[in-house]
Amino acid sequence: MDEQTKHLLDWSQWGRQWIEHLRKSKPLGRELERHLHKFEETFTQIGRKASLLDANKNSEELPALLFKAEEVQKQFHHFLRLAQLQEEELPEETTTASEAQPAQSVPSIQEPEPIPEVIPDAIIAIPTPIAYPSTREPVRVARPVGVGRHTLPPLPYAYNALEPYIDEATMHIHHDKLHQKYVDDLNTAERKLAEARNSGNFDLIRHWERELAFNGAGHYLHTIFWPSMSPNGGGEPSGELAEAINRYFGSYAAFQKQFSQAAEKVEGPGWAILVWSPRAQHLEILTAEKHQNLSQWDVVPLLVLDVWEHAYFLLYQNQRDKYIEGWWNIVYWPYVLERYTQARKLRWEPH
Ligand code: MN
Repeated sequence: MDEQTKHLLDWSQWGRQWIEHLRKSKPLGRELERHLHKFEETFTQIGRKASLLDANKNSEELPALLFKAEEVQKQFHHFLRLAQLQEEELPEETTTASEAQPAQSVPSIQEPEPIPEVIPDAIIAIPTPIAYPSTREPVRVARPVGVGRHTLPPLPYAYNALEPYIDEATMHIHHDKLHQKYVDDLNTAERKLAEARNSGNFDLIRHWERELAFNGAGHYLHTIFWPSMSPNGGGEPSGELAEAINRYFGSYAAFQKQFSQAAEKVEGPGWAILVWSPRAQHLEILTAEKHQNLSQWDVVPLLVLDVWEHAYFLLYQNQRDKYIEGWWNIVYWPYVLERYTQARKLRWEPH
């Protein structure tokens, strides 16, 4: 058998080993499994063509096959990296098929070995499979949220923990139903826009961009809102945040007065938002009458107060001022300080 043909056969087997290994080590999402299936077909097809070439003693097609194998190899490396990222992203989903998988502790992407002695680079122009980092920490740190993969953050306390200021029933509706709906609809908008990019059909672009803004703003603001409150909250901020408040607003009392007034006077549903401006390098209090219309796009929200009626109507009816007054007792300043500390690291050219 021709040596290069044999290498192609070995390469085809190597690819199928990898696929088998990926399938066994951890169930992948539907999207990755679809790609995996395609790769499997391609590896098999190239292997079969290589064996036919040898049988016919006709190697005219060999260079083309080698070229194709090289391309497939590159794509497969990319896929493996993606699979590793995706695996990090999908802990909950993947547990459903857990009976199908062996020991979870086995590092899934490292093996099997890339049979280097069988594919010498000098003979076959296929790059040696790259080594994947043994530690997953760097991947975890930079982990992006995939298209349509936002999740509802759990409450950091019990549903009744904020009583008597916010009641349990409101928290259930607000978190489980309303915030979940933002998450679901944001995911739908992202997926629909991805579909549009694939098909090139942007007929509904205006609708999905609105959905993206409305639900994205809703998801992100609520994600800040929940940990900004705590049964151990209340009191006044400390540290650098206290200094920044005093520096810009004059005093904590002055800040609180303005924030409460701003929240109370937001027309219709909306938010009161304490932000840090990386450009002006100072704090500011903003309101968002419709949260999709946030006007200062280059600021970082630090403390947010939901004054949509759904946030307080059960307990306070139309008395928004009473809700705001009670809310100060559960503001969790350590979380706000943490966001402030992180936000301070951003610095944009002052204008
Ligand atoms: Mn809300």
